Amino acid sequence: MSQNFELKTQYQIESARFLPHLPEGHPCKRIHGHSFKIILTLRGPLLPHVGWVQDYHEIDQTMKPLLAALDHRLLNEVEGLENPTSELLAQWIFDHAKAKLPLLKSVTVMETPTTECTYPV
Ligand SMILES: [Zn+2]
Repeated sequence: MSQNFELKTQYQIESARFLPHLPEGHPCKRIHGHSFKIILTLRGPLLPHVGWVQDYHEIDQTMKPLLAALDHRLLNEVEGLENPTSELLAQWIFDHAKAKLPLLKSVTVMETPTTECTYPV
């Protein structure tokens, strides 16, 4: 039986983007904004004595500079996000956060309340 627990933390950013590879006339080719919800999923065992997996505050501190690089910006201008689909945004956040959050299992990006994209699966 697994002794692991799963933590999820949520963040929200407001960002603009356009998707340059779409055909003319597609609405997402035009510059537009989203309130992106970003959900981090971490998995790991309890730390002995403390009784938790990881301090949420520590996760927040790690995410602060990454979120600042994305929030209220045109995502296409962020290095590595020239084509900022939700898929590539989730991958970008995972790749940048993983080194500092070894327990990170996946990143979910919701560009609307009814859509979500998770990387990796
Ligand atoms: Zn969009």
